[in-house]
Amino acid sequence: MAYQVLARKWRPRRFADLVGQTHVVGALRNALQQGRLHHAYLLTGTRGVGKTTIARILAKSFNCEHTCEGEPCGECSVCTQIDSGRFVDLLEIDAASNTGIDNIREVLENAQYAPTAGRYKVYIIDEVHMLSKSAFNAMLKTLEEPPEHVKFILATTDPHKVPITVLSRCLQFVLRNLTVEQVSGHLNYVLQQENVPFEEGALQLLGRAANGSMRDALSLLDQSIALGSGSITEENVRQMLGVVDRRYLFDLIDAVANQDNETVWHSVREMAARSVGFATVLDELAVLLQEIAVLQVVPNAFQDGLPESRELHDLAQKLSAEEIQLYYQCVLRGKQDLPLAPDEYAGFLMTALRMLSFAPLASSRQNAQGHIEGTELSDPK
Ligand SMILES: [Zn+2]
Repeated sequence: MAYQVLARKWRPRRFADLVGQTHVVGALRNALQQGRLHHAYLLTGTRGVGKTTIARILAKSFNCEHTCEGEPCGECSVCTQIDSGRFVDLLEIDAASNTGIDNIREVLENAQYAPTAGRYKVYIIDEVHMLSKSAFNAMLKTLEEPPEHVKFILATTDPHKVPITVLSRCLQFVLRNLTVEQVSGHLNYVLQQENVPFEEGALQLLGRAANGSMRDALSLLDQSIALGSGSITEENVRQMLGVVDRRYLFDLIDAVANQDNETVWHSVREMAARSVGFATVLDELAVLLQEIAVLQVVPNAFQDGLPESRELHDLAQKLSAEEIQLYYQCVLRGKQDLPLAPDEYAGFLMTALRMLSFAPLASSRQNAQGHIEGTELSDPK
């Protein structure tokens, strides 16, 4: 059988299979169960968080012959036809790629005719903000006096570009970005089902790199399976993402705190020799400092065990809260300055040296209120 990419193979077919978005799913299932159906829904959220997936499940529930508690049965002819993309009363339009504007208008004008097979004619319009003015007008006509048998499910990454006249006629749902835990948890599940061996640390990295998008996470997972020829190791994923081994970052922070100039210099050189992306290194450094800061306040915050919890605890004890805040500021400023630096290496090195030059201030010049004097990173403006 031909290889099917994971994002497609593991696309949820029922509300219960969705990861996250419980606030949206709960509301939709309640409405379906009680038969309180609106004629137009707008799903907003960034890419890969489940807009089209939810739209298709909703389209199934509208027309399914045996819905149960708002869930489509997945077995009737409607459900199977929608799953295989051949249901005549479901029209999916991608406004971002469909350039035949007249065609869209024609399609929308056909809304007045009754459905052929199902209860409802369902229009899923993806990236709806890209519709032309004339297409919006055609849709608006239907939205103003919607026939009983028509349902619109609109999806967009950019609701601000949807005309207010359309927005005000839709029931709007905002989908959230998925958390690192939600993403890595789902990757874990998928890999177990696929019988692919993996290292847990790799999933954390992928979860972070996906930036809240499950689709991106699954594509990265495909890539890392290919790269590791069938298994997933932390080392391979680091290389693929250009992410530095966190041990370098532990050493770097430790050396800064010890005022050990030599070690700071060497660890930055060594990272450069491994051709890491320094923008990603700064991100990782910020995450690390944030984790240390959290550990100081809530020592048992990461019960489920971060891979390097001992190193994290050591640093949480060694550094003062002010030092951590100061380094964190340096890192954020470093990120901001990176595009202005002669090159990434120089930019990162200057950030490390800045941390180093502020370190003695952070550890010695704390006044009674716990503030560190003379360390304001004021804006150059
Ligand atoms: Zn069904």
